[in-house]
Amino acid sequence: DPMVRISLRLIPYSPTQWLVVVRDVTKLMRLEQVRRDFVANVSHELRTPLTVVHGYLDMIEPEEHPDLAVMVEEMRRQSQRMTQLVEDLLTLSRLEAQEHLPEEPLGMASMLVTLRREAEALSQGRHQIVVEDLAGCDLTGSVKELHSAFSNLVSNAVRYTPTDGRITIRFSRTADAGARLAVIDSGYGIPAQHLPRITERFYRVSTSRSRESGGTGLGLSIVKHVLSLHQGRLEIESEVGRGSTFACVFGPARVRARSAAEA
Ligand code: ADP
Repeated sequence: DPMVRISLRLIPYSPTQWLVVVRDVTKLMRLEQVRRDFVANVSHELRTPLTVVHGYLDMIEPEEHPDLAVMVEEMRRQSQRMTQLVEDLLTLSRLEAQEHLPEEPLGMASMLVTLRREAEALSQGRHQIVVEDLAGCDLTGSVKELHSAFSNLVSNAVRYTPTDGRITIRFSRTADAGARLAVIDSGYGIPAQHLPRITERFYRVSTSRSRESGGTGLGLSIVKHVLSLHQGRLEIESEVGRGSTFACVFGPARVRARSAAEA
């Protein structure tokens, strides 16, 4: 595509003058596009072989091969992880390519019920799960993507909170008539020096704990992308040993009256 892309920056220079910085970013953007396409293609190509490996592994009956049982179990776990990684990479590519998302009504009362169920399924009774619906409104946006963002935060809260901890899912209004979905945990917390980079792809605080937790290191980048496509933002507060709060904050334009079906 022969189009030239230019980045313009205006910098105040003196009380009566501005500096205009013009940069040709054509090459930079083309490289970025190549990177995105490459990741998307590789991920896509990995899907089929993984499905085959999965399928054959599922055909092995561990009882018939007691000597292989441990190995087969580990191979299943690892191929499951790889599948999750590929799915998350494809999700990120899809989000990066997207400029506009559907504007659908998102019923928050039923969303909160779903999130509670997901938290309980992951926690298996190891945590206290609390849901607080204080906002009395709904949202608009892509139901699928917002659900995946909220689910990611809920699953992190469960995975990074030791047994007997508490996880609170709180939906409330903000001072500027927007809304906020916060996932609050009483878990391990995140050291302050990691916070600025925590939403980067593959960035993880403690690799051993994170790896054991079964995540891919892509969850928070997905959350951040989804929120920015909704003109929202992710707020993070955390204290080591006390817990973390991850909040999805939406402007007033994303808020709608709660539908009768949801009230
Ligand atoms: P992962 O798949 O590793 O969970 P994420 O992108 O979701 O990837 O999170 C990145 C890292 O941030 C995690 O590896 C973990 O170290 C840290 N993290 C995320 N959520 C929490 C939380 N609720 N409490 C403590 N640490 C967290």
